[in-house]
Parts: sequence; structure tokens; C-alpha cells
Amino acid sequence: MCVLAPSQNRDPKSFQFDLPVNQRSVNALLREKWYPTARRIARTCTSARRVDPLSGVVLIVVHATAGSSTDGAFSVMREGRASYHWLVPDEDEAAHGCHVWATAPERRAAWHVRSRCHHRNVAHGATHLNHRSLGIEIVNRQAREKPDRFSMWQVRATANIIRYAWAKYPNLRHVVSHARLDPMRRTDPGQHFPWEQLEEDVLKRHLK
Ligand SMILES: [Zn+2]
Repeated sequence: MCVLAPSQNRDPKSFQFDLPVNQRSVNALLREKWYPTARRIARTCTSARRVDPLSGVVLIVVHATAGSSTDGAFSVMREGRASYHWLVPDEDEAAHGCHVWATAPERRAAWHVRSRCHHRNVAHGATHLNHRSLGIEIVNRQAREKPDRFSMWQVRATANIIRYAWAKYPNLRHVVSHARLDPMRRTDPGQHFPWEQLEEDVLKRHLK
């Protein structure tokens, strides 16, 4: 199995890249399937966006689960505690290498960043970022002692989601880690996430 070396930059609080202004992705193919029951429960764990669902989306937040399965990750949505728009499965799951899971309608605000969180380099320091963002959750154990490396497919699949969104949302600018927005409480996607590889996959393939 192909795994990636972690980033040179090992501080998840600094993970951010911005998409070039006045450019859009041209490669927008997204292989997604709806996670079973996700559509049915969406209204119980998402909110109506306070901004226009297309022009108001300005950032994508990358998370990792600190768990070992897609179903474990989805349980927070089932319990109405949190939500996100896509789930990227782990290496030992059947969907890995095939497709990502759609877990919430893009037109709705998912609950993946605390309301008061903000960063001066993201959306001019605005709060309530769930209304302006899309959330991607990657299944990964985030073990400190024995790191669970992210697979190349997981990183590429995440990049594919970002390119798909970049083609669709005219004002999408920022790609950031959860840790950057909530540095006191969150470290995901973690120091072993190959952030530079993600940036390269999003931007270089776009430029081909
Ligand atoms: Zn997170």
C-alpha cells in the first residue's frame, strides 16, 4: 500500500493554502456516494446557511477523525453532535480507492468548527465559519506513538473534493486545517498529515 511521508512542516496549526484568485479548477470529477442514512438525518445535524449557499462559501476545512472507521466517524452525525460534508475512508475499508462518502448536503451548514473560532488570514477574521465553509473528515487514528500514515489515495481523494468545490464555488479561497481555526482544542488533521502534498495535488494538477 502506498503511504506518504509527513509534511516537512509538522505544525497543523499552520496548515493553510489559498487558491489563486481569478482561477477555477478545470478538473472537477468527484467520485462520491451518499453514506447510508446520511441524507435522511441531515436536517437533524446541519443548519440552513446564513449566506448564499453558492457565493457565500469561502473556505474548506480539513479534519481527521482520531478513530479507525467510517462508521465510527459517522456516529457523531447520527448522535447530532457534529457534522461535515464528506468522509474519506481509511485504507482497510471497502470504499478506499473507490469513492468518498457524501454525508451532508453542500447547501446546508455542517457543524464542524466552533462558532467563535476564527483566524485573521481566513475570511477576514470572520467567526461562524460553518456557514461559509465545507468540511472534509478523513478517517485516521491519529495515534501519537505509532503513527497511522495517510494513504496517497486519501490525500488525492481530499484534493479531488477541493478541486470539485473550487470549480463549483466562485468565491472559494482558503483551504485550512481544523487546528488552524481552533488551536487550543484541536490538532487535526495532525502532524503526520502531508499538507504540502495536498497543496501540490490541488494546485499542480490544476495547472496541467
Ligand atoms: Zn476537526
